[in-house]
Amino acid sequence: MKVTPQLDLRARDEDFINLNPLQTGGRTYPETRKAVSSYVDGYSVCDWCAGDLCSITKPGVQGMLGEISEFLGMEESILTNGCREAKYIVMHTMCRPGDTIVVDGNAHYSTLVAAERAGLNVVKTGGNTKPEYKVTPQSYREAIEKAKKEAGKPPKLTVLTHVDGSYGNLADAKAVADISREYGMPLLLNTAYSSGRMPVDGKKLGADFIACSGHKSWAAGGGNIGMLSSTGEYSEKIFRKSAGFKIKPLEILGCSTRGAQTLALMASLPHVKERVKKWGEEVEKARKVAKEFGKIGIDAYGETPRNHDIIFCHSEKLYEISQTHKKKNYFLYRELKERGIMGIKAGLTKQFKISTYRLNDLQIRHVIDSFKDIMETLG
Ligand SMILES: *Cc1c(COP(=O)(O)O)cnc(C)c1O
Repeated sequence: MKVTPQLDLRARDEDFINLNPLQTGGRTYPETRKAVSSYVDGYSVCDWCAGDLCSITKPGVQGMLGEISEFLGMEESILTNGCREAKYIVMHTMCRPGDTIVVDGNAHYSTLVAAERAGLNVVKTGGNTKPEYKVTPQSYREAIEKAKKEAGKPPKLTVLTHVDGSYGNLADAKAVADISREYGMPLLLNTAYSSGRMPVDGKKLGADFIACSGHKSWAAGGGNIGMLSSTGEYSEKIFRKSAGFKIKPLEILGCSTRGAQTLALMASLPHVKERVKKWGEEVEKARKVAKEFGKIGIDAYGETPRNHDIIFCHSEKLYEISQTHKKKNYFLYRELKERGIMGIKAGLTKQFKISTYRLNDLQIRHVIDSFKDIMETLG
């Protein structure tokens, strides 16, 4: 028998201030961790299943999905394996191969990969250029007109990244929804970086579909989980059942995420509902860090002032330090780790992303002071 190598256990969020934007919104609560460990075995949510994951009542998956729909101002929701699967479901249901969709210039790669898998042509909006990289509603009108001219018919779907993962810009979803409606196109709002962190009301924003990432922004650990919410108009179509297995939703191949992550989402939901009310404080924290960083030679790309916890930093000064430091471009990672801070990719100095989400005031202070100290002692 082979000897199993000892596992290298991970203690990043327990022992460090973690600034990784991918991870700050997915960090679990104590209740979540308990739920995950008790449901960690395979197919653990299926004890009382009557044939369909989304209507399980013990544990209360069905009730949770009702709460989520209400929370998002939508009518119906299902569980998916992540935000990308939710986007693919909408594209695959609403379009036929060869159709065209319009997406924003800051779209995540998974939007483009989902479109590719569904066999769709993609027209991107333009004008989202340095240093703010803002996507404007007007650029959607231009992209739709362009797509119309090329294909001879209006595109089938509009996809908007509500908050993009590169610059953390908050797009004007309502204005894009209005333009979309003018052309008779439904709007898929990608809320991977917004819902679960900040208030999102699909009805107010005019979204027809909302795709969410549970492991990114709803504190749902234990695996992959996402949600897809729809309005009444399209629910029947998007959540249609298999012809042969009349209880199984076709687009999630019957059942999607069938384990601990479903319970993680359930355990975190009460926290998530509360935390979005404090979104204003989160934005203030990000603005404060961006401002203090600006004073020491670390600037931010993306909109000013910030409207989200992601900050895309760039610094010639940190790059210059890396040129002469004996640890080379790994110096920043090392220096920060020594000060109890992680989450910036090892090796990056000139450009890197951070997130201030859910850090307390003391931690924010420590992050600012640590960067100041590094710049002063090495710069
Ligand atoms: C992270 C991210 C995704 C992918 O989310 P998954 O739930 O991991 O599929 C999609 N879109 C954006 C904008 C993201 O930042």
